[in-house]
Amino acid sequence: MGRRSAAVPDPEGAAPAQPLAQPGSPFHGVGAPASEHVRRIRNTASDPPAVRGGRAALECGMVMETESTWLAEARALHRRAIVIDTHVDTTQHLLRQHWDIAERHVDGHVDIPRLREGGIDAVFFAVYASGPLPRGQGAAAARRQIEVIQQAIERHAADLAPARTSGEICRAKSTGKIAVLLAIEGGYLIEDSLETLREFHDAGAIYMTLTHGFHTTWADSAGIHQPLEPRHHGLSDFGREVVREMNRLGMIVDVSHVSDDTFWHVLETSRAPVLATHSSCRAVSPHRRNLSDDMIRALAERGGCVQINFHAGFIDPAFPPLSPQAVAAHFAAGLPRHSGLTRHVTPLAVLADHFDHALRLVGPDHVGIGSDFDGVPALPAGMEDCSSLPLLTATLLEQGHPEAHLTRLLGANVLRVLDDCAAVAAPPAVGAADPDRPAGARP
Ligand SMILES: [Zn+2]
Repeated sequence: MGRRSAAVPDPEGAAPAQPLAQPGSPFHGVGAPASEHVRRIRNTASDPPAVRGGRAALECGMVMETESTWLAEARALHRRAIVIDTHVDTTQHLLRQHWDIAERHVDGHVDIPRLREGGIDAVFFAVYASGPLPRGQGAAAARRQIEVIQQAIERHAADLAPARTSGEICRAKSTGKIAVLLAIEGGYLIEDSLETLREFHDAGAIYMTLTHGFHTTWADSAGIHQPLEPRHHGLSDFGREVVREMNRLGMIVDVSHVSDDTFWHVLETSRAPVLATHSSCRAVSPHRRNLSDDMIRALAERGGCVQINFHAGFIDPAFPPLSPQAVAAHFAAGLPRHSGLTRHVTPLAVLADHFDHALRLVGPDHVGIGSDFDGVPALPAGMEDCSSLPLLTATLLEQGHPEAHLTRLLGANVLRVLDDCAAVAAPPAVGAADPDRPAGARP
């Protein structure tokens, strides 16, 4: 989640962080097969920063000039598919004076030029405020963030388009724009008011993460850095009411961050498919922010998806703990590439392992991407920012996952969940079709 605006040490990542060692993405226009990139990255942990991958490596003559076949195929697939990232914290940058999303930045993870380089068609911007906050301040912070997102879309209307449906995402892609969707991260922002929930939905919020890293008055959180003593042992009666109201509105219920008890209560209560918009696999890395195999199976059985989080501290069991103060300073500095937070390097293969595990566990219809870009202090080697996303796709292609499966993973699954949640809110009339949604778009 976002932070940094108030220099609050509360990132998804306050645990870990790694030096994003490479000065430039090693995977843009430089080459060798993805496997070679991955092998090289696996072996860079003890190299001095000056010779690790990327531009530095190119300058040292360490890599070939041609792009790998896998990476070229991945880029082509991104052009054909709808590519969606269900969680970024770039809103926190939008709150900074003079920060322009249309510029290509050296630091941080997301801006328009890098979204285009990454072949990303739609992105969910989280509305997040570190909390808990005194009554009145949470909702006010959310309103302010919704406003800055809307202003950014208006200011850059040639590149960005607001969206809340699958059809609007498809239309944005067909007109060469990037769809921006709004998400509320942390149910405390509605301040125990269904009216405020409806207000945020009216303003465009398409999902709400029920908790962040602390309990709300109606739902228990998993915590982030340490386990929390249960307060409600799941959802309270009002918490169940919130879920039912979200179903009625057509808002997606997001179970990332919630406690296991809350997760199971949500699945009991929700009439619509549920997303974990930015969570990875506990079977690969036993972090409390990740989901167990039973949870992922249950999400899938009800039509939902696990959207894999890229944070090195969640996905890599070997990642070292970091001082919250150092992480807070890292966010306050705008997620600089070379902060020296840690020398630990998480190989990209570790991230691919989470996708591979989820794909094998529940199949291609229930897995997707929820990077948490701009909300985490540490990413796997090579995945420096959103422009590097095709490298992940290249790795999965090389592992043998077919294009048809990856098309679903990249975004078609999210389109389906948006449709299914909208249908629960207002069942479509027989024969009705969304004119913006191409026939056969469903996986
Ligand atoms: Zn989060």
